[in-house]
Amino acid sequence: MTTLDAPDTLLAEFGLYLDGHSVPSESGRTYESFDPYTGEPWARAADGTAADVDRAVAAARAALDGPWGALTAPARGELLRRLGTLIARDADRLAELEVRDGGKLMREMAGQVRGLPAWYSYFAGVAETTHGEVIPTDKSNYLVYTRHEPVGVVAAITPWNSPLLLLTWKLAPALAAGCTVVVKPSDYTPASTVALAELVTEAGFPPGVVNVVTGWGAGAGQALVAHPGVDKIAFTGSTATGIAVAHAAADNVARVTLELGGKSAQVVFPDADLDAAANGVVAGVFAATGQTCLAGSRLLVHESVADELVRRIVDRAERIVVGDPKAPETEMGPLSNDRQLEVVLGHFAAAREQGVTIACGGEQPDGLGGYFVRPTVLTDLPADARALTEEIFGPVLAVSTFTDEDEAVELANSTPFGLAGSVWTKDVHRAHRVAARLRAGTVWVNAYRTVAPQVPFGGVGLSGVGRENGADAIKDYTETKAVWIELSGLSRDPFTLG
Ligand code: NDP
Repeated sequence: MTTLDAPDTLLAEFGLYLDGHSVPSESGRTYESFDPYTGEPWARAADGTAADVDRAVAAARAALDGPWGALTAPARGELLRRLGTLIARDADRLAELEVRDGGKLMREMAGQVRGLPAWYSYFAGVAETTHGEVIPTDKSNYLVYTRHEPVGVVAAITPWNSPLLLLTWKLAPALAAGCTVVVKPSDYTPASTVALAELVTEAGFPPGVVNVVTGWGAGAGQALVAHPGVDKIAFTGSTATGIAVAHAAADNVARVTLELGGKSAQVVFPDADLDAAANGVVAGVFAATGQTCLAGSRLLVHESVADELVRRIVDRAERIVVGDPKAPETEMGPLSNDRQLEVVLGHFAAAREQGVTIACGGEQPDGLGGYFVRPTVLTDLPADARALTEEIFGPVLAVSTFTDEDEAVELANSTPFGLAGSVWTKDVHRAHRVAARLRAGTVWVNAYRTVAPQVPFGGVGLSGVGRENGADAIKDYTETKAVWIELSGLSRDPFTLG
């Protein structure tokens, strides 16, 4: 069992989770996981190796060929619902693990973890209602039908920003489809994933259906995506790593879905409710300390309302309560790790070098340890400013202005990313028009940062391939088999295509 309450001198321990059991790495090595609020180690996780990945893939294959593969779809659905019930029961504990490991706010993670059962329940329903079809053809002597069979062993690779939510987006459809899974969480945030795997066993899933290999550095992930026993890779993380993962998948002709970075634009027209827009922009870029793939990190605002909107955003940004992620009044916690702090501080330095105006933030707050930065708003950016073109993954908003709708759309679509975006307007014609023209997988109108199990999510361009969530997500975890049944019993000319 994982433990949370460890005396100061004793760190919480998290093993690998293989074939239904918590086990050490074959190397015997462990590494320390740091609490981003204190900057101190709080837990120790197993440092998995390529040999551990072999063990995990073997366990997943055995479960697929064994009791799990024999279960009906309704039986899988029942297990998924039970897992959701256990997550609800342990929501506080799971949220606390995520806060300790990742530094996100308890008020956000508690809600996020409590929302997870909806995903398991939804995909239980999808499992029960997914079926093949009888296909009418021009060949009257054949009955043809399709079967949707599990694609096999899935490698689920997750980042540190929302470990359980982003895992659930993979796990729920994969299990609904009848696949087995090997999870490789980010080295920064191993704890909650191991705890979830224990609940999978408690829910009654056979051993080996869900396995977890933790590990420091890219080694375990690289071994997993290169493993010939993996049939599909579901990855969330940076675009650079996603490209490496896609190359590895190609070597084994494994299927792959990628949910990658973004540089999403919030487009505010002059007729918008400016208070609502300011609130939405704050939610889009400062919530979760800006560490979300869908962060609305670019504000494109009509020049006639730009000064007023920026004034309202800066006013709110300066009042954001930054501090202890566990305290209920805190609105923004630390960045998740030392590497991310370096990235964000590097962007502050680049903004200064490029002559960008720092309307607020641009530095670390006084008096806080850990990996804190202040909410930051940048204006007067040159077109090639790094803050306009690169995913920062921190609480940094880059503001640009436009004069008309065409220019707004052109600016919004001017990055190679295409994950999300928003349109703020009261004009219903413009809302639909611009929503259609934005190059993005998700567009919100007069809203930002809301997701649901029923609604597909994913990106275009460098933001990724494929969609998670929604009923069609299960298709990424199934192979379609066509079955032809000859009905006449007669022989035919063997040298022609039937
Ligand atoms: P990465 O994309 O490097 O890591 C994501 C996951 O992939 C982690 O589990 C990581 O493991 C694993 N991984 C790393 N290298 C490989 C590899 N070659 N093959 C297989 N798996 C691999 O993200 P980082 O955590 O390093 O963050 C870097 C940047 O990525 C951030 O600054 C941010 O811009 C972006 N990012 C985007 C996210 C998104 O949701 N779009 C989420 C997180 C980060 P390990 O951590 O153990 O190395």
